[in-house]
Amino acid sequence: MKIICVGRNYGEHAKELGNEIPEDPVIFMKPDTALLKKGSDFYIPEFSDDIHYELEVVLKISKGGKYIQKENASKHYDEIGLGIDFTARDLQSKLKGKGLPWELAKGFDGSAVVSDFVSKDSYDLENLNFSLIKNNEKVQDGNTSEMIFSPEDIIAFASQYFTLRVGDLIFTGTPKGVGKVSENDLLEAYLADQKLFSLKIQ
Ligand code: ZN
Repeated sequence: MKIICVGRNYGEHAKELGNEIPEDPVIFMKPDTALLKKGSDFYIPEFSDDIHYELEVVLKISKGGKYIQKENASKHYDEIGLGIDFTARDLQSKLKGKGLPWELAKGFDGSAVVSDFVSKDSYDLENLNFSLIKNNEKVQDGNTSEMIFSPEDIIAFASQYFTLRVGDLIFTGTPKGVGKVSENDLLEAYLADQKLFSLKIQ
């Protein structure tokens, strides 16, 4: 199983990090060891003083393929969920500054949090609200209509390079409002008005 992630897929978030709006999806990967075990707390790793949450809609691939056409892409995932793409922003900035890959800042153990998955048919994926509450305060409030590249665009693009397999996950990018987590924070993630998970930071 692999985890494919899209960076800078919401214009306002690209701007808040001082990045340009991309012409093609910005793709990076996390290894399967990045998945945080269900029910576990998230432990801030010792190599970073600036771990950021990034709440994202996650697609679960239900049918594999290569060179998937955009018009067929929706047949390749049945379920969606929410996830957090934890990012060591200090390390990422350092790597970006040197023109190096981001993997250390993005793919470390526990950096991929995913909720249980729900049928995508219950939601309008073109206009779906999702939000992150940190310690009772709403810090991210996104809508999938703000995505630069739709789930279908991402599947079509990524599958030109990577064969998609059943069970692969695609993190579709984060809206604006990313920020730092600290010990004892409580994060709660909502898809529309349904709470999909809560997570304690240690
Ligand atoms: Zn992200």
